[in-house]
Amino acid sequence: MIDYEQLGLGDRFRRLIRNTGPVSLTHFMGESNAFYYSGKDPLGGTGDFITAPEISQMFGELIGLWLADMWINAGRDEPVHYVELGPGRGTLASDALRSARRYGLEPRVHFVETSQALKDIQLTTVPGAIWHDDLSTLPQEGPILLIANEFLDALPVRQLVRTPNGWRERMVGLSGDDFAFVAGGQPMDPAVPVDLREAEEGTIIETCPAAAAILFEVAGRLDEQGGCALFIDYGHDATRTGSTLQAVRAHQKVDPFAAPGDADLTAHVDFATLARIAQSRDVRHLGTVTQGDWLRALGIETRAKSLADKAPQYQQEIHAALERLTADDQMGTLFKVMGLASDRWPGGVGFPDA
Ligand code: SAH
Repeated sequence: MIDYEQLGLGDRFRRLIRNTGPVSLTHFMGESNAFYYSGKDPLGGTGDFITAPEISQMFGELIGLWLADMWINAGRDEPVHYVELGPGRGTLASDALRSARRYGLEPRVHFVETSQALKDIQLTTVPGAIWHDDLSTLPQEGPILLIANEFLDALPVRQLVRTPNGWRERMVGLSGDDFAFVAGGQPMDPAVPVDLREAEEGTIIETCPAAAAILFEVAGRLDEQGGCALFIDYGHDATRTGSTLQAVRAHQKVDPFAAPGDADLTAHVDFATLARIAQSRDVRHLGTVTQGDWLRALGIETRAKSLADKAPQYQQEIHAALERLTADDQMGTLFKVMGLASDRWPGGVGFPDA
């Protein structure tokens, strides 16, 4: 008898594929990331990747100010809920809540998080939070102020590929002991937008059904309960073809098939599609702008200067963080900020629909 618990995730996938055939990329990515996040803290210098709130406190502080400004202009409704999806170490929340408090905003705090290892850390950084496995148990009364930083990119994508026999789902099979892409057996042409059906062989369409479902749910709540949301991630603002799947381990890009469950699998976020979903539920799309422009509009340069004046010994470090968050060749352009708000709420600083 084989003890499945003793097998690594890669070997479990190999057995599954040998027994029942190729698995969808969605399945492969979903299980890989669930496994990856369940047991470890991947953030920071000694981990696999670093995120904006871990680079500098300025990031979370400005988000807290943005949320407080929205809430004050909307009439200071109570109860009000701060909701964060995939809060990592809780750093963004603790910086944001500290700066919001100075403007009288002290919301109830809700974290949607599936990783036990990260929950344990969040418990020490934000002890008063309430944890949820998914959005369904979030409160239904009172506006929500929702934030998700580098969350959507970790959700599993689905890929379709144009083969000589029409469109098929992209599956993960085996070539010897190595994972390899194969085309699925089921015709998928009806799932492809009409203008792409005749695209050339090899064309790939990537979608993220889980992100679409989350946007649908968030937008429905903004419409019913009031509130606003910020989704920050790397991605594009126009739908396009091609695969953006990548894996990162120890700050290096690696082959997504090399070590399932041991590297972070991500894909670029298709903000254009997500904005359309929000609008279909009567929610205002404030805009999708670059992280550099948004942080500058919120005054990150002034904030950096005042921090450096207060602590001159950290001046270089603060300047380096500012560059990293805003410069075009760093996170400034690749990362986008999408703002949404209930149509009864005002526009927000840094967005065209202000
Ligand atoms: N927002 C944090 C962490 C980003 S890493 C930061 O900016 O530092 C991605 C986060 O999403 C982690 O907290 C991870 O555990 C969580 N996550 C990934 N997939 C998830 C899912 N399906 N449901 C809930 N949380 C998830």
